[in-house]
Amino acid sequence: MDQVLGQVLRNAVWERLDMLTDLANRADAQSLVSVARSELPRLTEAWRAMLKMHEPDERGDCPTCSTRWHRCKAPCSVWQVAHEHLVAGGLAPQQPSAADSRLQGRRKSPVPTHPAPPTAAETTGRHALVNPRRAVTA
Ligand SMILES: [Zn+2]
Repeated sequence: MDQVLGQVLRNAVWERLDMLTDLANRADAQSLVSVARSELPRLTEAWRAMLKMHEPDERGDCPTCSTRWHRCKAPCSVWQVAHEHLVAGGLAPQQPSAADSRLQGRRKSPVPTHPAPPTAAETTGRHALVNPRRAVTA
């Protein structure tokens, strides 16, 4: 894909994300429900498609992030961001309330069980996005 086309594509995606954020912040309840019904499945499908490309191979490396000269150990940055935003952040209740526990019975795990769970250092706080193994070798 040529550079201009790539920029157009990226801008379209950023604008779409901005529009959804704006809707979440400003739309009335009825519009929000309607947007959630149409957009949430698209967003979850997008995450699934992206995560599939970053599933670890038989050696435990990410085939998409690895190069011929540098193997990228799973979980790669894409999985770390997914965990940070989908599990550690917004969707996972920090202190379950009555409403949360009611929902929990029906909620399925949004992320499939990972064969190599990240270490505690990789799953906590802002530094979860920094892969310590990569930082050492870089
Ligand atoms: Zn990856």
